[in-house]
Amino acid sequence: MTSSPATSLRRRRQVVIIGSGFGGLFAAQRLKKADVDVTLIAKTTHHLFQPMLYQVATGIIAEGEIAPATRVVLRKQKNTRVLLGEVFDIDLENQVVRSQLLERVTETAYDDLIIAAGADQSYFGNDHFAEYAPGMKTIDHALELRGRILGAFEQAELSNDPAEQKKLLTFVVIGAGPTGVELAGQIAEMSDKTLRGAFRNIDPTDANVILLDASPAVLPPFGPKLGEKARRRLERLGVDVQLGAMVTDLDYDGLTVKEKDGTTRRIESQCKVWSAGVQASSLGKVLADQSDTELDRAGRVKVGPDLTIPGHPNVFVVGDMMAVDGVPGVAQGAIQGGRYAADAILAEIRKGQTPDQRKPFSYFDKGSMATVSRFSAVMQVPIPGTKWKFESEGYIAWLGWLALHLVYLVGFRNRLNTIINWFFAFNTRGRTQLAVTEQQVYARTALTELSYLERLRLAEAARADGDGPERTDTAG
Ligand SMILES: Cc1cc2nc3c(=O)[nH]c(=O)nc-3n(C[C@H](O)[C@H](O)[C@H](O)COP(=O)(O)OP(=O)(O)OC[C@H]3O[C@@H](n4cnc5c(N)ncnc54)[C@H](O)[C@@H]3O)c2cc1C
Repeated sequence: MTSSPATSLRRRRQVVIIGSGFGGLFAAQRLKKADVDVTLIAKTTHHLFQPMLYQVATGIIAEGEIAPATRVVLRKQKNTRVLLGEVFDIDLENQVVRSQLLERVTETAYDDLIIAAGADQSYFGNDHFAEYAPGMKTIDHALELRGRILGAFEQAELSNDPAEQKKLLTFVVIGAGPTGVELAGQIAEMSDKTLRGAFRNIDPTDANVILLDASPAVLPPFGPKLGEKARRRLERLGVDVQLGAMVTDLDYDGLTVKEKDGTTRRIESQCKVWSAGVQASSLGKVLADQSDTELDRAGRVKVGPDLTIPGHPNVFVVGDMMAVDGVPGVAQGAIQGGRYAADAILAEIRKGQTPDQRKPFSYFDKGSMATVSRFSAVMQVPIPGTKWKFESEGYIAWLGWLALHLVYLVGFRNRLNTIINWFFAFNTRGRTQLAVTEQQVYARTALTELSYLERLRLAEAARADGDGPERTDTAG
């Protein structure tokens, strides 16, 4: 393992941002004209627009359209540099962040730290489910899902066993939140429209798409009225919505479901998708181990009113990693949190504001949207000054979803390409991104096996040495 020394001479105040998602990128952009040096560290090279991942998974758009390279987005921002690496340690006492890229460990000193490392899929303690039911948080996930969905149709075409064909043409999406609803709707449309007539031995329109959830409603955050409308719309598309059904086991060939009355049943299905829960980045635990910081059940950091952790007014936690009452885990929560943290740093530099003079973070709810299918979405927007919300469902809400998501998509060319692909996909039954590679389908499993073998090797070496695994100290 090689290491890089703590970075740069301290000529200016050093602001370090972890994560290039909504929280991290918008915080960095807010500091564009500030008299500080900004270092943004992220484990991916891109800023990912997660709300459109389901369109990558179902072949409507290409991954590059929702994932511009972060360093290119920030190239004109001269006070900012971008480092690729996975942060594995935050040393609160010495104000240093440690990140790793391959064998190289980099230490980056900070005066102010904004942590926006987001969240991963949660399998509620059943991590082995991940092998058979990937989530959808990253580009890798979306491409793997695309491979699994299309791969199931390909395998069914080769089979002459009706039971096997049925298993291969049964797609189960677990979790009826916005991601699950969007994905189930699109798998149904893809099998019914895009793939219709493209096979000879099977009829893709026979595909059975099941949307499962332990809760009694679809899209619970949208309330019963919109949830019910979304459910009916999904059923019209042919999606089998099964509520009050909890997944208790999951394997390569299917899953076991427990009903409300305690009975269990089995669903045979090769292609399963998990969109049932989230777990915040493990960096929250790194903070909790060194300070009085507390985490909630989803591993989110209980921050103070100024989004900082106890005893460290220069360490902000924003976005999906923060636990703040009334702030949902959505893009706006992360954007507003990231900007708030940047503004607090700016106020300190420009106006000499002290941490105790900061106004508490206040979330402005701009509303929520979720697409159900082509030409159909649900939308809920608070009416300012009242406790009421404007609700809409159907075509108008769908147009609103398209417009809003275009606004937040980073990069002019990405917007243009997306509009062209949307036009094509929504007005014809064609989808331009149906290519699948072996790597997309198998790489995650292969990488898991490799890391298992590596752990075995280290354990072996430790046993041979008679002590713990070999360690290489990082530069200090
Ligand atoms: C499929 C899907 C659909 C969604 N749809 C919607 C929607 O329609 N509307 C909406 O408002 N919200 C939606 N969301 C939620 C929204 O995307 C998130 O709330 C938002 O992305 C959170 O922003 P963030 O900056 O906190 O985290 P993220 O955007 O997840 O960014 C986290 C960043 O941290 C980096 N990172 C993580 N760990 C480390 C580490 N250890 N070291 C270095 N870097 C690290 C990651 O690479 C990434 O760059 C959706 C989410 C998903 C997954």
